Amino acid sequence: MNRRWLAFAAALLLGGAAHAWGPHGHQVVAEIAARELTPKARAEVERLLGDRASNAMREASTWADEIRGEPQWRHTGSWHYLNFERGDCHYNPKRNCRGGNCVVAALEREVRNLGDRKASTTERANALRFVIHFVGDMHQPLHAGFDHDRGGNDFQIRYGRGGNNLHGFWDQDIIRAYRGKLQAVRHAEELIERPIDGDMHWHAGVAARWAEQSCAIVQAPWFYPAGGSIDTHYVLTAAPIVDAQLDAAGHRLADLLNKVLGGDR
Ligand SMILES: [Zn+2]
Repeated sequence: MNRRWLAFAAALLLGGAAHAWGPHGHQVVAEIAARELTPKARAEVERLLGDRASNAMREASTWADEIRGEPQWRHTGSWHYLNFERGDCHYNPKRNCRGGNCVVAALEREVRNLGDRKASTTERANALRFVIHFVGDMHQPLHAGFDHDRGGNDFQIRYGRGGNNLHGFWDQDIIRAYRGKLQAVRHAEELIERPIDGDMHWHAGVAARWAEQSCAIVQAPWFYPAGGSIDTHYVLTAAPIVDAQLDAAGHRLADLLNKVLGGDR
């Protein structure tokens, strides 16, 4: 029995500790991206956020979740996700992103704000915080799930002695379930060593493809656990997919920032 499994068993006994995934997942993505920045993009990140890129980006990665309840930011709540129609993972902005209020359009808007050299430093720093966060969110499969159950929010699960819904489990518990107490920086270091395949480049329209890829994970036959029960087999099936999503998000975020902040204009 390996240590990872023991960590899983311990997590089961403790029940679902809140917030394990949220900050951890976003920090892993930010850390991977920070290590892949070109010198020019790094300098710009550090100028905008006022700290060394790794620290600043990990810190910035959860800002969008922290402020979304405040009155002046309440309109950003729907910028963190999108919903596809049941069984159809093909992105159609008219159906899946009305009024531009979804994560695909929000990311594209904030990328434009970040690249706007005429915008204020504060505006561009907030755009950078949104971009770091939204790239992470789009790689949590249930942030691009289906509308009939609101991205798994209406699908109740049992997990150890605790209960949750499937969305909350993927947000908060799943990384802890297989990684235990591993720190975000160490987790990022493990992932960054691995070969990675797929399109890691930022270009027009690619954000919609990322959402469709997340949706395809939600469509996999194992994704909704039979009887709503999360067991060891479920966690071990999901673990390599979660790691691959975090890894891809980190590399994609780096390429995006290198293009927007590191290019000669
Ligand atoms: Zn979010």
